[in-house]
Amino acid sequence: MTNVVPVSQPVSLPTSDGNEYPVRRIYLIGRNYEAHAREMGHDPNREAPFFFTKWPNTIVVGDGKIAYPPMTKNYHFEAELVVALSAGGTNIAVSDALDLVYGYAVGLDMTRRDLQKIAKEAGRPWDYGKNVDESSPISMLHPVSEIGHPGKAAMWLDVNGSRKQDTNLDQMIWSVPEMISILSEHYTMAPGDLIFTGTPAGVGPVVPGDNIAVHIDGLTDLNVEIV
Ligand code: MN
Repeated sequence: MTNVVPVSQPVSLPTSDGNEYPVRRIYLIGRNYEAHAREMGHDPNREAPFFFTKWPNTIVVGDGKIAYPPMTKNYHFEAELVVALSAGGTNIAVSDALDLVYGYAVGLDMTRRDLQKIAKEAGRPWDYGKNVDESSPISMLHPVSEIGHPGKAAMWLDVNGSRKQDTNLDQMIWSVPEMISILSEHYTMAPGDLIFTGTPAGVGPVVPGDNIAVHIDGLTDLNVEIV
């Protein structure tokens, strides 16, 4: 027997020690920095965390160009720390969760904000707003064995050299081990799963020709041009 359509290529992220990390799933948390929750019109103190997902083939590996997508007039950047799991399970205790982390990278959760807003107001899924082709650029992965767990590290995002987002990872509402634990109550987590850990305040639009630079102390910067 032969495949009747071509096999889609799995997405792998390069690691800083010269290996490859094959991606299985992408989970993303909503509203994990207080000031960003407020700028989106929500009270962060009254909301349990929630997650959404993207297809792995929305990933763009490393620096490069990403296409301005169709059907939007308000395409937003969101700088985020990305967590990569080396092991999984269900009902993982918070105290065990960091043992499942392979490493960390810098990511962008690009968002069709106008379509996300329509979905929110209509009570519809976020897919049109979030699960967008080329919407998940990710830099090189750094293993925990090299960098440890970056609980406190500066994160910033520039558009065309102008600072738009500027925070520290210690400002997250829900920590990395808490996110892993909560996700594992809902899903069977596994090696290859990525978690985007939320964006701080300052999100905004880009247009073709803009250059986005994202930095987290200790990780490889991510540089993307919108085309
Ligand atoms: Mn996000």
